[in-house]
Amino acid sequence: MSRPELGRGERILPGLFRLRLPLPWPGVPHCNAWAVRAGDGLILVDCGMHQDGSLDQLEYALTQVGLTLDQVTHLVITHAHADHYGQAATVVARTGAPLWMHPDIDHARAGYGDPDGALARRYEIGRQSGVPDRPLRSFLEHYRDLPSGIAAFVAADHPLTGGVTLESDLGPLVVYDTPGHAPSHVCLFAPESRVLISGDHLLGRVSLYFDYGWTPDPIAEFLGGLDTVEALDARLCVSGHGRPFSDVDAHIRANRDLVQERLRATLAGLADMPLTALELVPGIFGEPLTPITASWRLPETLSYLTHLERAGAVRRERDGPEDAERWRQA
Ligand SMILES: [Zn+2]
Ligand SMILES: [Zn+2]
Repeated sequence: MSRPELGRGERILPGLFRLRLPLPWPGVPHCNAWAVRAGDGLILVDCGMHQDGSLDQLEYALTQVGLTLDQVTHLVITHAHADHYGQAATVVARTGAPLWMHPDIDHARAGYGDPDGALARRYEIGRQSGVPDRPLRSFLEHYRDLPSGIAAFVAADHPLTGGVTLESDLGPLVVYDTPGHAPSHVCLFAPESRVLISGDHLLGRVSLYFDYGWTPDPIAEFLGGLDTVEALDARLCVSGHGRPFSDVDAHIRANRDLVQERLRATLAGLADMPLTALELVPGIFGEPLTPITASWRLPETLSYLTHLERAGAVRRERDGPEDAERWRQA
């Protein structure tokens, strides 16, 4: 077995540091936390997932750029997914730093505080999508045993919503609401240095994920958030995974194009006959669903369908309340 990878710190600009932290997920090997100097203090944006040795990893990454956890005066969370928020309780307990986070965190509270409820939601998404009962139940058995990646649920001391501004050595950091990927998602923008801290709203590698079932239309929210960050004219984007990138507009366009392409594929898949979300997956993503991809591709497909339904382009039907939903062009 290879040795576990260590956290890594890297200076990006004067006062801005990338803290690259290992993740246990296939295909997503790291997440980034960002440290921003603020006078004598330090703003820590995101803090990585809670797992064995994860606080050491964070401290090790900070040490590499000459910083320590004790300097942290603000813990800021871009969104309440485990890889960004998981260690928040640990960091708050250790540093006493106030936690800044968007208030729409029911999606995280359900995942951490109510594992049975979270499992029931996953079951409902699978059932609604047309996944047969037996494979669905065995898939969920696997989920039941996975750790949440969240040390403990900790509430925000300060609501982090659009317009909130934090002073930093990059100049004021202004908060923008960018839901879609998660209801609690925000980006931070430093107008003086034109640096955008984008969380998972905008990533170096275009990779879509939508928290389905918490808000009426995650796709519309996400597209609105792309318009929001496009108007900022950022020159450098530092995101929740991967390296910083400077062609921010191209990344925004690529995200928008991929959403539109998948919306078109969803609609085109319903040209001949009504289908379930499960049956639509190969046409949208170019390959059938697997137990690995199910956890994000079914919610993503349901997000496209719901968006098209709200636009009057498709409608859903089912025989009884226990049956899978079939979708047809309206
Ligand atoms: Zn995320
Ligand atoms: Zn993430």
